[in-house]
Amino acid sequence: MKALQYRQVGAPPELVEVPDPEPGPGQVVIKVTAAGVCHSDIAVMAMPADVLPFPLPFTLGHEGAGTVAALGSGVTGLAIGAPVAVYGPWGCGTCAKCAQGKENYCLRAKELGIRPPGLGADGAIAEYMLVDDPRHLVPITGLDPVRTVPLTDAGLTPYHAIKNSLPKLVAGSTAVVIGTGGLGHVAIQLLRAMTPARVIALDISADKLALAEQVGAHETVTSDADAAARVRELTGGHGAEAVFDFVGAPPTTATAGACAAVEGDVTIVGLGGGTVPVGFGSLEYGVSVTAPYWGSRGELIEVLDLARAGAVDVHVETYTLDDAPKAYERLHAGEVVGRAVILP
Ligand code: NAD
Ligand code: ZN
Ligand code: ZN
Repeated sequence: MKALQYRQVGAPPELVEVPDPEPGPGQVVIKVTAAGVCHSDIAVMAMPADVLPFPLPFTLGHEGAGTVAALGSGVTGLAIGAPVAVYGPWGCGTCAKCAQGKENYCLRAKELGIRPPGLGADGAIAEYMLVDDPRHLVPITGLDPVRTVPLTDAGLTPYHAIKNSLPKLVAGSTAVVIGTGGLGHVAIQLLRAMTPARVIALDISADKLALAEQVGAHETVTSDADAAARVRELTGGHGAEAVFDFVGAPPTTATAGACAAVEGDVTIVGLGGGTVPVGFGSLEYGVSVTAPYWGSRGELIEVLDLARAGAVDVHVETYTLDDAPKAYERLHAGEVVGRAVILP
């Protein structure tokens, strides 16, 4: 089969021919119908060899959806042809965090060498994908796989982040979304569906801010050195009760800290290498800072239910497998509006 692989440190991804995966005992193979392209892949492909946490090559794509194609011995309860999405942050399945469905926070994944598909293990940008356990598959019956596949990361990650701040996002509150790309434009919709908060979106691109407005942001602000002052102005000087930074680079983490209100939450999701220093006087009183990772399996099911209720509509641009390298080029250049999705 054809697969898009990251094969050599620093080199662009390559479309190659690899053997079709065969399910071992307890495993499942899906025929991929849609696979999302995430900026984290670009961060991974920018890592020097001594920092890259997993061996090469591997097939890219940590957002996957498809239909069940083959079952390994011992797998029951899944019908061939059933439409499914892949829950990506694989864990051991048995530690205290995994027992709560929080495989994203598995206590043993590192020690056991368990890696997410597309981030070390072979991922979804291929004709077929090996899934190590049926518990990592979530039914998507009734949903369009193309617009649904980004919800497994670009939906789940902001959902998990927003859930953490729900107690603060009461009527009259403000939420700031920095970076309205793949994750950010879904975050705006989730905030509108889950909270009564006023949503202020920040980006450097006019196209992305137009999308932010289209998907429900109440205000848009150009992300520059004056952005935090503008957020204060829009909030009567108080700042935002919750700030979600989907860039995470030094200029945006500085903005994020500077626009948080007293007892506000600052959540850094982007991998841009920025930090928010916490110390007396560096932020408003009582601000909490966190950097969450992905989300739980239960939360993925909740996000999919929100999609079924019509509360989220991911904006996608689609590519064939042959054109998949182009999707990465456009994402790298900041040209993708919404999420790029590969249709193998
Ligand atoms: P994306 O490229 O689709 O979106 C990024 C957006 O940020 C774009 O709209 C871009 O114009 C905007 N941007 C760039 N610089 C900016 C600035 N200075 N101020 C404001 N906006 C700016 O990326 P994505 O796939 O949505 O991923 C977003 C980030 O989240 C990436 O860093 C990715 O690695 C990370 N991520 C983290 C997790 C996690 O679990 N923590 C999960 C998925 C993705
Ligand atoms: Zn991702
Ligand atoms: Zn575990």
